[in-house]
Amino acid sequence: MMQQKLTGTERGWWIISLENRVWLPQGELPSGTANQWSLQGHMALPIGEWLGETVWLIRQKMVSDMSSPRLIADHDVQLFQLVGRGVQLAEFYRSHQYCGYCGHGMQHSPHEWACLCNHCHERYYPQISPSIIVGIRRDDHILLAQHQRHRNGIHTVLAGFVEVGETLEEAVHREVMEESGIKIRNLRYVASQPWPFPNSLMTGFLADYESGEIKVDPVELISADWYRYDNLPLIPPPDTIARRLIEDTVALCRHQ
Ligand SMILES: [Zn+2]
Repeated sequence: MMQQKLTGTERGWWIISLENRVWLPQGELPSGTANQWSLQGHMALPIGEWLGETVWLIRQKMVSDMSSPRLIADHDVQLFQLVGRGVQLAEFYRSHQYCGYCGHGMQHSPHEWACLCNHCHERYYPQISPSIIVGIRRDDHILLAQHQRHRNGIHTVLAGFVEVGETLEEAVHREVMEESGIKIRNLRYVASQPWPFPNSLMTGFLADYESGEIKVDPVELISADWYRYDNLPLIPPPDTIARRLIEDTVALCRHQ
């Protein structure tokens, strides 16, 4: 957990990140020794392992090739998760230089990813925002929507952030009602995925249609409709939880 000053001989994967960007020369995450990338003398924090080697975080900006971590999402889902961790930790330390209660400067905990105020003894952890995402089946159809936030032609399942004081299940029922006007039943949990844009943890569910007619919330959605499982529009890429929920629902539709 301790930052260390690089001598140059350290090996591994190098996440160089600031302001939600990451250094990807030629679109790849750099690997090898610190010397190879002229990183000796920099402070680096080990934040995980990838293919048997240490993943290091260096919190700074390079002069070029600072990119969105989205570029890594298509490479490998595990690597994307580590890059997401690095980008979020870099942003956490940048936004927690001073205590929110008393305004004094803070220190990094040597034991965990946390910032400590030595004056009032408050402790801060990286913010994680839980969100829900749900695949909804009606006989051999699936509910897919085009979101206002992503105007890229992709049709996907419904999603939204959990509100304070709400269970995950309540959040699913509320989001589905708010965005599409329908009621669901038989809600069950499937899997989760960290999603570093900027700090969400998506929890994935499947559900069945219960009642109601689709009524689109125009603030959130461009469109929403039932699609037969063998005639889907453009859907999200593999290795996303949205895609998995769609594929799981398609499998259920096929067995109808
Ligand atoms: Zn304080």
